[in-house]
Amino acid sequence: MTTSQLPAGWDRYVRPCQSCGRPILWAFTEQGSRRMLDPALDDQGNQAVVRDGTGTLRARQLSTDRPVPDGFEKLMMPHVVTCPKAPGRTPPPESLPPNVVPLDRARRRPK
Ligand SMILES: [Zn+2]
Repeated sequence: MTTSQLPAGWDRYVRPCQSCGRPILWAFTEQGSRRMLDPALDDQGNQAVVRDGTGTLRARQLSTDRPVPDGFEKLMMPHVVTCPKAPGRTPPPESLPPNVVPLDRARRRPK
């Protein structure tokens, strides 16, 4: 992953992620919904982002039709990829409930 700093002025769009508290950028998708982005340029990202004439960030997902960013688009990573608290990414529990036998212990064979 190669990251670099945001274009000048984009830092004013940075907000904390409401799940993990890390800084993110909000951009609007072509469908008009909002998408969280990691606030750095990332050549592994799949979001081609521009600031339009009204000062709104617009994110376009790279597609088979348009697989590379246009000259003025910046590649960024969607925050859901890196957010440690994204839905569906459950961290392992600190300790097992008392009625659960740890599998590594149960699998240990007697000698
Ligand atoms: Zn997050």
